Amino acid sequence: MLSGSEALRIAAATGLPLADFLALPFRDAPEADFRIILGEKEPSSWRYHRLQLRREPTPSESHAQRCLFLQGEPGAIRCGIYPVRPRACIAFPYQEQGESVRRSRLARVWCPPGAWVKDEVDVPAHRLLRREQASDRAHYNAVIDRWNDSVTTQGLPPTPERFWLHLAAHYPPTVF
Ligand code: SF4
Repeated sequence: MLSGSEALRIAAATGLPLADFLALPFRDAPEADFRIILGEKEPSSWRYHRLQLRREPTPSESHAQRCLFLQGEPGAIRCGIYPVRPRACIAFPYQEQGESVRRSRLARVWCPPGAWVKDEVDVPAHRLLRREQASDRAHYNAVIDRWNDSVTTQGLPPTPERFWLHLAAHYPPTVF
């Protein structure tokens, strides 16, 4: 999952159009993470979507899908957009729990044995990253609010194509 500014930074670094590497999965409920209204012109068809990196199928039985930007084969797998990867990827697999920063349970499932140890966490850096993420997310949420308003009160078409244009138009070039 990522914000609009993170998506545009990746687009600028890779030269890829947003539609080529982003997905907009939907749910029927307007949860905080699923709040982009898309659909056909009729309000009855509107659904709540969220922005995330696309995944592609793999031949692996244990990992049926992987991020579009993951490159290489087992034993030599790397992130293909490492310098501009989303903050969620930078922070993974650590998360704050009260006063401490702990490894997520998902690390045991998704990462090789011994890949992460607690002592490696730079707690102040992790907290700074999370603060930046929260600030970026607040800006992104305001951009999404404007999108939803254009759909619900101005009646503009809630298509993915127009959403990509909306996203690009609501971030100053300096965020890239
Ligand atoms: S670290 Fe890179 S390859 Fe892994 S999920 Fe994030 S963007 Fe994709």
